[in-house]
Formats: sequence, C-alpha cells, structure tokens
Amino acid sequence: MSQHDVIIIGAGAAGLMCAISAGKRGRNVLVLDHSRKAGNKIMVSGGGRCNFTNYYVEPNRYISQNPHFCKSALSRYTQWDFIAMVDKHGLPYSEKEEGQLFSDQKAKAILDMMLQEVSEVKAQIQLETVVEKIRQLDLSEAPNRFQLITSKGAYQCESLVIATGGLSMPTMGASGFGYQVAEQFGLNLLPRTPALVPFTLQPDEKAFTEPLSGLSTPARLSCNGVSFLGGLLFTHRGLSGPAVLQVSSYWTAGDQLEINLIPELDLEEHLKSLRHSKPKTELRTVINEYLPSRLAKAILEQWLKQPVLEAGEKGISVGDLSNAQINNIANRIQRWIPNLNGTEGYRTAEVTLGGVDTNELSSKTMEAKKVPNLHFIGEVVDVSGHLGGFNFQWAWASGWVAGEVV
Ligand SMILES: Cc1cc2nc3c(=O)[nH]c(=O)nc-3n(C[C@H](O)[C@H](O)[C@H](O)COP(=O)(O)OP(=O)(O)OC[C@H]3O[C@@H](n4cnc5c(N)ncnc54)[C@H](O)[C@@H]3O)c2cc1C
Repeated sequence: MSQHDVIIIGAGAAGLMCAISAGKRGRNVLVLDHSRKAGNKIMVSGGGRCNFTNYYVEPNRYISQNPHFCKSALSRYTQWDFIAMVDKHGLPYSEKEEGQLFSDQKAKAILDMMLQEVSEVKAQIQLETVVEKIRQLDLSEAPNRFQLITSKGAYQCESLVIATGGLSMPTMGASGFGYQVAEQFGLNLLPRTPALVPFTLQPDEKAFTEPLSGLSTPARLSCNGVSFLGGLLFTHRGLSGPAVLQVSSYWTAGDQLEINLIPELDLEEHLKSLRHSKPKTELRTVINEYLPSRLAKAILEQWLKQPVLEAGEKGISVGDLSNAQINNIANRIQRWIPNLNGTEGYRTAEVTLGGVDTNELSSKTMEAKKVPNLHFIGEVVDVSGHLGGFNFQWAWASGWVAGEVV
C-alpha cells in the first residue's frame, strides 16, 4: 500500500496548481489521472494559445448559486500571482480584448510551466490510472485517512482532493467522477448544464443562417435580463462566437434569446430621421452600411422580402417607408428572436454549470464541511466563469488555497 500525505485526483489546471501549492509546503503529493496526458484542456484552450487569466478578475464574472463563495480563493491567489509565475518562467503573453491574457507561444508552454513547477516540488503524477473505489478508513484502522483502490494498485492518503473537472468535452477526459465522489460522501449536488456553448437552431432558422456560415458580426445578445456585446459567428449548426458563448451560460431550455445585429444604433430612429433628411436613400444602402454585405443581402431578401435587384436597379427608398414598416425592419434586425433548437451540449461546451454545492465546502480551504480532509477544487464545484480567462483563474485559485492546507 503506497502512502501519501495528499492524493489529488485530476491532473488538470486545478489539480496541478494544488500539487504545486501543497508540494511547496513539503507535502508528499501524488496526482492521479485516468487520461494518457496531463492538462488536456490547457493544451486546447484559448484556440491553442491558452487564455490563462484576465486582468479584471471580479466575483461578478462568475456564476454560482452562492455568488460570494468564489471571493475568498480569488482574493488569496489572484491573477497577479499567476502572471508572476508566467513572468518567472519568461513566457511571453499578450492582452487581447477586455484584459484577456493569452500565451504568445502555444498553450503547451503554459502546461510545461505547470509541469515543471510540479516536478520542482517533487510531486508525482501518475497517468492512465482508473480510481475504482474510495473509502474513508475508520478510527480503528487509521483515523482520518482515505484508501483508494485503482487500476494500478492501492493507495492511502491523509488528504484527498477531487479535481476531476466538469462534464464538458468527454474526448478531453471529462467524466462525472467528481460528482459520484460527492454523492458517495453525502454532499449535495446542484443540477449541471453545458455552458459557454454554441446554440443549434430549428430547421426554418437554419435555412437562413446556414448559407452565412463562417460570417462573424458584432451583436448584442440578451437572455434573462443579462446581455453581452461581442462577436456572433454563424456556423453550419447554428450560432457561436464570444457573445453567444457568454449568453449561453444564462440560457435554459425554453428561454428566449434576443439578438441585436446593429447594437451601436437605434435603427428605428435612424430610419425615421433619414426619411426626413435624405428620403431618397435606399434602404439597402442603410442596411449595408451597418452589416456585412452577405448578411445585409440575406436580411433584405429573406426577412424584409425585398426583391433581388439587377445591377443598376433601385430598391425601396427610406422616404417610401411607413412607420409600421420602419418598426418592423428595426424589430427584425434589432430584436431577432432566433428559433432555437438547443445547444451543442457537452461535446463542445467549454464548461459545466452547477456541480458540488458550495454550501457543502469551506470557501477558504475548499474542504467538505461534513468530511474532514476531503477537498473539491476547480470546475467540479458550482463556480463557472465567463469567457476570458476567468475559468482558469478559478482553477488556479481554488487549487492553490486547497494546497495551502492539505
Ligand atoms: C476547448 C476549451 C477551451 C477552453 N479555453 C479556456 C481558456 O482559454 N481560458 C479559460 O479560462 N478557460 C478555458 N476553458 C475552460 C477550462 O479549460 C476549464 O475551466 C478548466 O480546465 C477546469 O480545470 P479543472 O482542473 O477543474 O478541470 P480539467 O482541466 O477538466 O481537469 C480535470 C482532469 O481530471 C481528469 N479526470 C476526469 N475524470 C477522471 C477520473 N474518473 N479519474 C481520474 N482522472 C479524471 C481529466 O482527465 C482531467 O485531466 C476551456 C475549455 C475548453 C473545453
């Protein structure tokens, strides 16, 4: 029976950070993972460049049934701490939109940095190991210790950390294992749903969007009182892009999504004012001014039922539009309610909403209140970030604070 101070299940972002933090305290740490490689999601993150944190980490960038829970960890291991580690390793990075920090090198550079830190503190990582059974030893055997039966033998540890992530992207090693452990020890679980995920559309709506596939345009997307301004990308299956992914975290089946395709303008007011000042302006000229030409053409022909024009032919002028027509045009373009089919689900979702109820955990140590020495960190917990490096920052922060006490 192999004995360790700490066993961490899951060699992803949170598990590796926890290993570094506990290893720095001189703890004997073993990280187990069923995958062939550690940090699969780090490797594919940020389009291959790993958006590893954000300059503007704030609790309001996280979704959780208890919005206060994330505050403690995020304030004790901050984005500046992670940036300091990246700087120490001399890795170049750049800020993209809104404080999002991406590696200038491939995402592997961030993973290699984490693995080097893990090896410097002499924590071990053992891959391709399936944990078959976990048992808390009783007082007569060895008080406050856990026994793990795995495909590679039996282990004992004083502290057990569950860092197995959420359900998103099973091809990257995701499993519901962390939730099963929570259930085994009587911890409450909150319902889980895919988030930061593209939408799929009903066939009638797809007939409009499919020919636009690959086209990206700025838009404001609103759902359940929350709205995001950013890129909307038409795909073969439906709608994606940063603003779509963001708003998907606030959507549940049956909810309406509203899309404003010209967010910088009050189109109704604009058309009415042009009707007086420049009545001969063609409607298609106005629409083309604010939308990519392929999208403008599709809207004019399919939504606004304007005839396909030959070269030299003139379309309807704004001076000929009635108030009702202007109102209808503005509604179609600025209050588009797509006929949604659902989302692409865990296959492509970046994160999982819900998970281990934060009421069951200490926000300072991530330890289960009912089960001493059992900790849950990272995405398995009911804390999910917005797009933009916030999810990794939660993984680093929750992993670090647990590592300080295990
Ligand atoms: C395509 C994609 C791109 C992303 N890009 C970004 C980004 O740029 N910035 C950002 O902040 N966030 C990004 N995210 C989200 C981010 O990757 C996650 O929030 C983060 O990885 C969660 O860390 P974690 O350690 O909790 O879980 P994970 O990183 O998922 O790690 C969990 C680990 O546990 C292992 N595991 C699972 N089940 C078992 C089991 N039964 N036994 C043993 N081991 C197990 C897995 O193999 C894995 O190694 C992205 C996600 C995806 C899918």
